[in-house]
Amino acid sequence: MSIFKRFNTKRTGKSMSMSGDYEILMALSTDIGCRRANNEDSIQYFSLPGDRQTGLAIVADGMGGHKAGEVASKEAVDTIGAYCLAKNFVNPKQTLTQAYREANCRIHQLASDNIDCHGMGTTATALLFAEGIACFAHVGDSRLYRISDDKIEQLTRDHTFVAQLLERGMITEEQARSHPNKNILTSALGTHADVEIDVSEQLLRVRIGDKFLLCSDGLFDVVTDEQIKTMVLENKPDDACDALIDAALAAGGHDNISVIVLAIEQNK
Ligand code: CA
Repeated sequence: MSIFKRFNTKRTGKSMSMSGDYEILMALSTDIGCRRANNEDSIQYFSLPGDRQTGLAIVADGMGGHKAGEVASKEAVDTIGAYCLAKNFVNPKQTLTQAYREANCRIHQLASDNIDCHGMGTTATALLFAEGIACFAHVGDSRLYRISDDKIEQLTRDHTFVAQLLERGMITEEQARSHPNKNILTSALGTHADVEIDVSEQLLRVRIGDKFLLCSDGLFDVVTDEQIKTMVLENKPDDACDALIDAALAAGGHDNISVIVLAIEQNK
């Protein structure tokens, strides 16, 4: 799995339109950071050839010893992507839910069959576009943000012990940021035979001017929401990816950093 040792890629979608009036610009990038020996994040964008109305962005952040985290995150991305492609991205909620269940089973089975992979797991945050709507699914502490109308909203809920304390009012936002247990996940793909999956309660209607960011915690642990908002709003997706990664590295880059930026623009 050494192919992930220094993996840094970027692609910009040309014209993946939601309908005749829209197009999605997409760029993605991942960086090992400054302190880690491996990049345990996996990211990918899937689309149907010749179909400009669909696409699926996924960020997964793996965990486990002996490079098992890399195995888990790659398995999640590959399985979820392949499942959605096989279903032609129809019925987004059901398709994403089933894709996540399949990924959970496969990772859990791999972990059971291979002693080096025991206990491995991964986060997975996915955003699917089809026919003018968007739908997301999520497990773990990677995040999906929507940036529009000059505001940034976190659409996913972190599945962490610290997020639970925060939701119950037992700690403050400030305490959450520096909490010693902030990396303890309450849910992950592959660690158990069953998994609780968050799927968008409502399908999101995609609007021109909307921007979306999927990212691993290597970004938002060290870069504030306000900084993220500015960098995404002021740049095209490929430049935004560069700016976000550079900001995380400049802040210490203690973890792997992965970002996918999507912008909904008027079809030209
Ligand atoms: Ca991480």
